[in-house]
Amino acid sequence: MTAALTFDPIRLPPECEKLRQEVRTFLAEEISAGTFSPQRAQKSDDTDAPGFSKRVGARGWIGMTWPKKYGGHERSFLERYVVTEEMRVANAPVRRFFVADRQSGPVLIRYANERIKMDILPRICRGEVCFAIGMSEPNSGSDLFAAKTKATKTDGGWLINGTKIWTTSAHVADYMLGIFRTSAPTKDNRRHGLTQFLVDMKTPGITVNPIGQISGQSEFNEVVFEDAFMPDDHVLGEIDGAWKQATSELAYERSGPERFLETYYVLTELVRALGREPDLRGAEGIGRLVAQLHTLRRMSVSVAGMLQAGKEPVVEAAIVKDVGTIWEQQLPHRVRNLAAFVEPNVSNHETLERQLDFAMKIAPKLTLQGGTTEVLRGIIARGLGLR
Ligand SMILES: Cc1cc2nc3c(=O)[nH]c(=O)nc-3n(C[C@H](O)[C@H](O)[C@H](O)COP(=O)(O)OP(=O)(O)OC[C@H]3O[C@@H](n4cnc5c(N)ncnc54)[C@H](O)[C@@H]3O)c2cc1C
Repeated sequence: MTAALTFDPIRLPPECEKLRQEVRTFLAEEISAGTFSPQRAQKSDDTDAPGFSKRVGARGWIGMTWPKKYGGHERSFLERYVVTEEMRVANAPVRRFFVADRQSGPVLIRYANERIKMDILPRICRGEVCFAIGMSEPNSGSDLFAAKTKATKTDGGWLINGTKIWTTSAHVADYMLGIFRTSAPTKDNRRHGLTQFLVDMKTPGITVNPIGQISGQSEFNEVVFEDAFMPDDHVLGEIDGAWKQATSELAYERSGPERFLETYYVLTELVRALGREPDLRGAEGIGRLVAQLHTLRRMSVSVAGMLQAGKEPVVEAAIVKDVGTIWEQQLPHRVRNLAAFVEPNVSNHETLERQLDFAMKIAPKLTLQGGTTEVLRGIIARGLGLR
């Protein structure tokens, strides 16, 4: 056994259960008001349920762990975990605020100047702004440090030229946190030379081109920069040193319940379709899936506990994402097998078929977004001292 990995068992404290009930009540009200449907797969973030993000913000469920002076609520990562979990399980339309809440806000808290923090963070907490992540480029996805999009110093700021790709929500985003090349890599450190910037998406010289997906979603985009001007105070952290920042940002991105719940709705639909007395095959299959889900959840809660303790569980987060995304990717296939003997009727079979159809189409992306399986395994191997 290795001591390099820590997954301490964490029990969610009592205040989390109270919060869970509040979130469930809120979501039930939103569902009955017709804001969204837990059964309907969300095909696009163009159709953000009007006002949903703002109502979530008004409840105090965005920026939950952030300082109060920035509009946050100084609650724990475990409480945030509960809110995220309930939102994902209900299939709530969280896209507009989720990236800002999960990772862009924490980066700003750490690296932005006070003026920017006081301006943007309270608006994130109110559910008013959407963030995108500008890391991948046409020839640098996994190899983030090969990024070529250039930031050239000019009077009072920087001019950005180049292309980012697969940028989720760029077509609706107010801001992007982008990584741009400010100097060449050095002989000793090929990661050197990239700098992180806050990008106002309304800046002249930025063009967003949507990329269609087979599922019908229009989730991500190509973003082209042509002499787009970024003021000096939009530099986040150390010039040429973004590689140090991006690693800890990814610990936030990789460990949450959203990393194994994206196809969860097919499991609930299967349970509904099999009814109260499933046959032995169905019962065994559901039992196995639920046991695996429970283990993933314990690991993910454990990572939330480490974040709460101020640690940077990069390797543990990579493991949760690796195991979690493979589980959610296989889930539609396993559900399809288990559902093969379900007697079709109007109330169950059609919904399950529709859900499965959608989940099968999105499944391939799950082990790519946020870092591919192979790349995560490289990180895990390094963390274990194997490379
Ligand atoms: C739905 C979705 C949303 C996304 N959203 C964003 C976003 O908002 N912002 C953003 O910046 N990016 C985003 N991405 C991009 C994503 O991060 C990249 O697709 C991912 O990092 C892989 O990069 P790539 O597509 O260039 O593939 P490549 O890096 O070219 O990889 C191709 C294959 O080679 C393998 N490979 C590459 N390097 C290694 C290695 N060293 N060892 C072993 N195998 C290797 C990979 O695992 C993969 O199987 C998104 C992707 C998806 C699918």
